[in-house]
Amino acid sequence: MNIRIGYGIDVHRLAPSIPLFIGGVEIDSEIGAVGHSDADVLLHAICDALLGAANLRDIGYHFSDTDPKFKGIDSKILLKEVVSLVENKGYYVVNVDCTIILEKPKLNPHIPSMQKVIAEILKVNIDAVSLKATTHEKVDSFGASEAIKAYAACLLNK
Ligand code: MG
Repeated sequence: MNIRIGYGIDVHRLAPSIPLFIGGVEIDSEIGAVGHSDADVLLHAICDALLGAANLRDIGYHFSDTDPKFKGIDSKILLKEVVSLVENKGYYVVNVDCTIILEKPKLNPHIPSMQKVIAEILKVNIDAVSLKATTHEKVDSFGASEAIKAYAACLLNK
């Protein structure tokens, strides 16, 4: 049996007047995500899911958030590197299933472009990239638009 399951979670604070990148796509928004990289919460959760499935530690282990080399880096580069790490262990991605928690703006119009970007990096068909978005029903910090969260589950095969 060479099938491996993985999951990842990521959270970023939100702040006014900075860009909002989700799933490798810049979203038009008055608030953006704060981080050392481009703060793409969805790509970071997918990185951790892939690394977890291959038992390769976590995103912070490979890309330190204090290393100037990664300051402002496009997270698509990080995800590509993670795919290489996973491939070096003999695995390929079967599918990912993700949920993004964000109060606003609505993400549904952007889902197809995110799926396209992620599918290309993971070297899978678009049908293998499931992305769901939900609000936090105005509850807690996520509901108050103070933060964004993403969950990702993935399956690898050898
Ligand atoms: Mg992150």
